[in-house]
Amino acid sequence: MKRIVSLGLAAFAVLVCVLIVRTLTLHASSPDLSKLPPAPQVDTEAAAQHLSRAVQFQTVSHQDPAQDDKSIWAAQRAWLETTYPAFHQASSHELVGGGALIYQWKGSDPSLAPVILMAHQDVVPVAEETLNLWQAPPFSGAIRDGSVWGRGAIDDKGSLISIMEAAEALARQGFKPKRTIYLVSGQDEEVGGSGARDAAAALKARGVHAAYALDEGMAVIMDYPATHGPVAVIGVSEKGMVTLKVTARSAGGHSSAPPKDTAAVTVSKAVVAINDHGFPLQYKGLTQTSLKAVAPSMPFLSRLFVANDWLFAPLLIKTIGATDQGKATLHTTTAPTMLSASPKSNVLPAVAMARINFRIAPGDTPQSVLDHARRAVGNLPVEIDIEGVAQAPSPVSSTQSASYKTLEALAADISHAPVIPGLVTAATDGRSMVSVADDVYRFQPIQFHLKDIEMVHGANEHLTLTNLTAMVSFYERLIQASAG
Ligand SMILES: [Zn+2]
Repeated sequence: MKRIVSLGLAAFAVLVCVLIVRTLTLHASSPDLSKLPPAPQVDTEAAAQHLSRAVQFQTVSHQDPAQDDKSIWAAQRAWLETTYPAFHQASSHELVGGGALIYQWKGSDPSLAPVILMAHQDVVPVAEETLNLWQAPPFSGAIRDGSVWGRGAIDDKGSLISIMEAAEALARQGFKPKRTIYLVSGQDEEVGGSGARDAAAALKARGVHAAYALDEGMAVIMDYPATHGPVAVIGVSEKGMVTLKVTARSAGGHSSAPPKDTAAVTVSKAVVAINDHGFPLQYKGLTQTSLKAVAPSMPFLSRLFVANDWLFAPLLIKTIGATDQGKATLHTTTAPTMLSASPKSNVLPAVAMARINFRIAPGDTPQSVLDHARRAVGNLPVEIDIEGVAQAPSPVSSTQSASYKTLEALAADISHAPVIPGLVTAATDGRSMVSVADDVYRFQPIQFHLKDIEMVHGANEHLTLTNLTAMVSFYERLIQASAG
């Protein structure tokens, strides 16, 4: 008996040793900052004036492009041309598809793969009921309290203007890139991104293949949940999306003598079955890579759990999955969004329909989501089909490439925070570039608190002048480091 107890104790001691050694040997990557170009002097005042003016162009894109007032986009383009003369002199540009802009700043060495910088021209509308919440009118571009206010200040005119400011400053100094730089700016990112797809097709048709593309999507999160401190997250993949249409049919007729299950009941049962049959929460792939990368900055106990995820994965899933946002990073999400049936309360529906929107995690596909939903409903008499265009999750970009290392070093330098790769749970124009770039990264070099996400498509969107300065500086150095 004594022997068994001491064997047990010895085994336990070994386990504790293994856990601790694994925890202590988990190291953060230390980006090499030595090769970075020095931070430039940024004319923040001019950049702020320019961003203010850009916000005043109400480039609100609509689901039906016929509703877009194209003259506003044209005016914004013409304004870019007069505001950034040196860059427009140094580069050429063209309009493709329904209004996407492709700028080409030709490099002197055609053997080098080009780079693609991205920022979209359009914005989301301002909801009528939020108008009274705005501290400054949403399209005023007011500069006050150290910020530029208005729709698009962050998403995504902040990026567009910062890239322009950076390119203009460099062109004025006579900078000549060795590597070709493309600037791709879609006109309808907020309503599906056909412009970015057109631009990618145009680049592909002429044989362009870039080393990397950089778009919006992630930032320096100042209150990163796992560390409660700042962490710069570079998006290396984004989720896909599919909408399933669920249809049930039954004999219509008067509601006074209903059958046991009307089409409305059948479709409801199907929605509940699919919703209750969610995709399993999994701690793997990018979520795991991300957390491992940030673990060295976590408190000891959390670090121990992450370093020994072979043992603690269930606990990690429980912790990350405690919030809806956290849970979304662990699986393909299921969101029933639309229901329709009879047009009148005393008429039985002949057809009842539901729509369910899924955001697809890497590893799943639109087809596997469809199969999953069909299995979930079993024998219920419903039809399930994919509606509209489905998008597979984008491939996971490299974190070992020279371009990632450059982005990582720049992000570390501006944030003084750990830099980690992450999964973008929303959609960006960047996904269209996977066919014309080795890697696609999603990162806006701004400091962002989690609660700031609300203002991005909500009220009081504003970009601080500190962030604006950081962005201009970042893009200027990125162009120099990538193409100098
Ligand atoms: Zn955007």
